[in-house]
Amino acid sequence: MKIGFIGLGNMGAPMAANLAAAGHAVTGFDMADVSVEGVAMAGTAAEAASGAEVVITMLPNGQILRAVADQIIPAMSNGAALVDCSTVDVDSARAVADQATQAGLLAVDAPVSGGIGGAAAGTLTFMAGGSEAAFAKAAPLFEIMGQKAVHCGEAGAGQAAKICNNMILGVTMIATCEAFALADKLGLDRQKMFDVVSTSSGYSWTMNAYCPAPGVGPQSPADNGYQPGFAAELMLKDLRLSQQAADSADADTPMGQAAMALYEQFVEHENGLGQDFSAMLPRFEQRGRT
Ligand code: NAD
Repeated sequence: MKIGFIGLGNMGAPMAANLAAAGHAVTGFDMADVSVEGVAMAGTAAEAASGAEVVITMLPNGQILRAVADQIIPAMSNGAALVDCSTVDVDSARAVADQATQAGLLAVDAPVSGGIGGAAAGTLTFMAGGSEAAFAKAAPLFEIMGQKAVHCGEAGAGQAAKICNNMILGVTMIATCEAFALADKLGLDRQKMFDVVSTSSGYSWTMNAYCPAPGVGPQSPADNGYQPGFAAELMLKDLRLSQQAADSADADTPMGQAAMALYEQFVEHENGLGQDFSAMLPRFEQRGRT
């Protein structure tokens, strides 16, 4: 398949490389001067998109996605698919899908989970929104770049699933970290805390699979000095998107709001920037009640 790939950063570069390695003809574009194995580089986004059956975007945010969409949609051929894998706000995802559909294109919003490791290994999970026909066109590429793709519904449904999932993730990470910090102060051994909670009703992915306490549970960023993993600032981005969506849908999300405020404090006013999002545990450890 002839594929255009725009946004070859930490995630986009390995995804594009995997498509090229699988035998697809990939033409890429990035604002930065990058090169990716097996990918031919174009001089503009429109040039990368021109003549492609599928154009994939992997960009930082909704504003940039809208700007890139303005450039590439007029260059794309009728019936081609625009597949946005970035994490963006639901409103931008729907606006770009509308614009693409009106231009005679298929559109899919397909944010991912799995991080840089998943992108390199081709084991991402895709959460997709769009028509059946659009999803069907993108599905063989999701199979190469990932191990699972869920068609969540119409345009914007993929972004909705992603931010709801990550709102739960942010809230449960904070709950797990503050419970460990409380357990410390109550004199409870961390391993015992893990043994009980991981097999009791407090279990969660953050406790069982990504334990924020070093030396406890399976290997996680906590065992590596809280090097990300999933950086606190990326969690903050997703929590902000969840609260933006909650505002526009008039949804009451007090825990999501509190999690956003805490990650904002951690990233912007403390030492959270560049640390894994589980570094909330040492943050709580150092604090008392006031
Ligand atoms: P990144 O900053 O490494 O890559 C983004 C790339 O887009 C950069 O190379 C940048 O030069 C390029 N770019 C920016 N504006 C452009 C434009 N106008 N035209 C062409 N290229 C442009 O970011 P990333 O980590 O690859 O993340 C990409 C997306 O994936 C984000 O939406 C992020 O939230 C999401 N995501 C990231 C992770 C992760 O672990 N990094 C996990 C899941 C989802």
